[in-house]
Amino acid sequence: MLNIALFGPPGAGKGTQSKKIVEKYNLAYISTGDMLREEQAAGTELGRKVKAVMDAGNLVSDELIVQILEKKINSLQNVNGILFDGFPRNLVQAYILTGLLTKLNTELTCMISLEVPEEELMKRMLKRAEIEGRSDDNPETIRNRFKQYWEKTAPVEKFYKEMGKCVTINGVGLVDDIYRRIVNAIDQCL
Ligand code: ADP
Repeated sequence: MLNIALFGPPGAGKGTQSKKIVEKYNLAYISTGDMLREEQAAGTELGRKVKAVMDAGNLVSDELIVQILEKKINSLQNVNGILFDGFPRNLVQAYILTGLLTKLNTELTCMISLEVPEEELMKRMLKRAEIEGRSDDNPETIRNRFKQYWEKTAPVEKFYKEMGKCVTINGVGLVDDIYRRIVNAIDQCL
């Protein structure tokens, strides 16, 4: 299996690039953020539980993340591999990922980390707010999402770097140029 984790701060372009990568390599797509938003839209108990946390820009508890991930992974059949977007988001989740993939008799092929300066991220997210109206794309929540990212999520990159499994990509430029950089990086991991 080809299992990729697409990593980067909020607004780095993970969602945009994921769509293209999933298509090219024929992967199942797992975005914990999308799944949490779907639970909210469907009005499930889990969705109600996570709303305030997400609106504040904090991380949802690892227990709830494991619940939605297991449900999703158990529903996958005959896949070529999995692209994870927005997961793992802290070190506990990195260990959880190892466990989930071990259960499937596989492992993470590589982590692709998109690097984008913070001013550019803020600009992109405020623009996205106008188009998509995501309730967590407002300046105050964005600031907290960055804080959470630097405190809890950034160490995950170091963890995979030390295992020799993380490639950093320049995430500034045209969508197609960034996509080509990612494809080159993935092909080198194969
Ligand atoms: P972004 O990376 O642009 O902030 P996401 O859609 O990945 O957007 O995440 C939105 C919110 O969903 C996060 O701020 C957090 O509250 C929650 N979330 C998503 N994935 C996770 C995760 N793996 N662990 C904890 N919380 C998560």
